[in-house]
Amino acid sequence: MKKEFIMAFVLPDLLYAFDALEPIIDAKTMEIHHGRHHAAYVANLNKAVENYPEWAEKSIEDVIIHLNEVPEAIRTAVRNNGGGHYNHSLFWKMMAPVGQTKPSAFLLAKIDESFGSFDEFKKQFAAAATSRFGWAWLVADGGKLDVLSTANQDCPLEDGKKPILCLDVWEHAYYLKYQNRRADYVDNFFHVINWNFVEELLSKA
Ligand code: MN
Repeated sequence: MKKEFIMAFVLPDLLYAFDALEPIIDAKTMEIHHGRHHAAYVANLNKAVENYPEWAEKSIEDVIIHLNEVPEAIRTAVRNNGGGHYNHSLFWKMMAPVGQTKPSAFLLAKIDESFGSFDEFKKQFAAAATSRFGWAWLVADGGKLDVLSTANQDCPLEDGKKPILCLDVWEHAYYLKYQNRRADYVDNFFHVINWNFVEELLSKA
């Protein structure tokens, strides 16, 4: 008899339509990115933890925080696919239709305090996002905000840093519309940032 398997991790629904972020991010990219790439991370993560119920029942955040305790046999698979699941789940919520949100005075003050100015923050974030295949991040580290990048599907949460903002700079995130113009994708991303969600993460950090 086939073993019954309960799906431990689930692909979250997008909170908006595939075309909601047009013209910054095209509908086709969103559809493939969410429905195929992210779905594959979830499927592969479920497969990796199939025989490890104590890991299958954790929240994805918990899995990432305790990555070093994951059994070695599945750690690489969990790092890549669990990271992919966690990062993308955050990333979808980081975005909203153009013009829907703006950074609050509180958030701007926090950015000024950490970077000197919003422009300087944006410059550092863009530099992080164009210099690596992986992810660019704004994180809360202690009382301060910091910009960094990670390779592959790695996540700053592994190092105890709280993600505030993230941008997927894998080619699959932008290639259909931007081809090799990654800098334009990064620059345009600022039009679809969901600042309300960024502030929510900051307030919990
Ligand atoms: Mn991606």
